[in-house]
Amino acid sequence: MRYLSTRGTAGPSPAFSDILLGGLAPDGGLYLPESYPQVSAAELAEWRELPYSALALKILQKFVDDIPACDLKSLADRTYSANVYKHCRPGRDATDITPLTTVEPGFFLLELSNGPTLAFKDMAMQLLGNLFEYVLAKRKESINILGATSGDTGSAAEYAMRGKQGVRVFMLSPNGLMSAFQRAQMYSLQDPNIFNIAIEGMFDDCQDIVKAVSNDAAFKAQYKIGAVNSINWARVLAQIVYYFKGYFAATSSNDEKVSFAVPSGNFGNICAGHVARMMGLPIARLVLATNENDVLDEFFRSGVYRPRGTADTWVTSSPSMDISKASNFERFIFDLVGRDPSVVRELWSKVDAGGSFDLRGTPHMAKLPGFGFVSGKSVHADRLATIRDLWEQHQLMIDTHTADAVKVAREHREAGIPMIVLETAQPVKFAETIQEALGRDPVRPRDFDGIENLPQRVEVMKADAQAVKDFVVRHCS
Ligand SMILES: *Cc1c(COP(=O)(O)O)cnc(C)c1O
Repeated sequence: MRYLSTRGTAGPSPAFSDILLGGLAPDGGLYLPESYPQVSAAELAEWRELPYSALALKILQKFVDDIPACDLKSLADRTYSANVYKHCRPGRDATDITPLTTVEPGFFLLELSNGPTLAFKDMAMQLLGNLFEYVLAKRKESINILGATSGDTGSAAEYAMRGKQGVRVFMLSPNGLMSAFQRAQMYSLQDPNIFNIAIEGMFDDCQDIVKAVSNDAAFKAQYKIGAVNSINWARVLAQIVYYFKGYFAATSSNDEKVSFAVPSGNFGNICAGHVARMMGLPIARLVLATNENDVLDEFFRSGVYRPRGTADTWVTSSPSMDISKASNFERFIFDLVGRDPSVVRELWSKVDAGGSFDLRGTPHMAKLPGFGFVSGKSVHADRLATIRDLWEQHQLMIDTHTADAVKVAREHREAGIPMIVLETAQPVKFAETIQEALGRDPVRPRDFDGIENLPQRVEVMKADAQAVKDFVVRHCS
């Protein structure tokens, strides 16, 4: 399998390990496989029976042809083990990795947040940590990971990379905008290869700095800058696995269809669902849920993609979705426009200049329904009502992001088609809102007792790409 850029890089097509350590393609586009591998009926039947790590291996092998199968197998086994995803709730089977919980008949939660940081980003990031270490050791290289986080990516990256040979992590986060629990998770790490930088701005400012630094080709090469934010293809790839796993868990035969509801921000998680569907997984609908920051809901309702500026980005109680420019969205648009990079270049010449694009009245718009997306929006009051409802009616405590997806999922249920909501975080990460909704504290897995009181290590900085570069240089010798 070779990879291409959504903006149509000329030149040799890289293999998986070549794009693993980078971020954007050299032309500013995002990497995608040259074509989507198809899953046959026979494979689907065989895969239904597999445990998580074996299923992950089957899917990885379709996209990765430059790592020997035995090495890939040991990476998958080490990553998707019950020791890593051990924080599941009482009564769940940790060996499932992603247990499926029935809310009511035909309506499920797929629990993706049992890893070390209690958010679904561990599902991909733990694999990335092991892949990085493997490929860097083979090449006798090192890397400096520069990332931006609105909360969960940063801690997932740091817990995946801490102590890894040949890797340093420089993680930008918006100063003061994450929950106390999220801050404690990240800033309390004392590993010498982990650096937390709190930027005086919003998540999008952090993301813009990462882009600016990565676009400086000379700096990027000299300081071996790599990325783990959600534009990294390997993360999308790792997330494809649980769509298959969830499908098998919620159905009894491969003739059935299911729908997935996904709380969305950067469009990484649901992009993996899109790829799974393109591979032939019988997905009826991909239900995209946003919070008050509804740029993606607006697109799927209207055909207008209108990213907002920092001043128009709301700070909400589902903060990991407080995103007004969805960094993975370009991947979907590339497929929507028939994989024509010249169209993507034209559309993103507007987006990258701070503008918007409008597909109304274009032939692309007519193709949109064929991709199965529907969308909706959930605001703070919906979130509280949904959290209360699941607690009172079903004795299930869910986090704020999952609540947004449950709310929107209920608006898009179809008779006879199971609906699987992806649970993206555990409620303990958002205790303030759980208190507001339920008047009680969320249950906290034992290993996390008192983490807010641990000493923290963080550098506060202005939103200035040069200052961040200087910091990287100072800490690279
Ligand atoms: C990152 C995150 C999301 C959004 O996922 P995207 O891949 O950015 O769309 C939703 N919920 C939680 C808890 C997250 O951490």
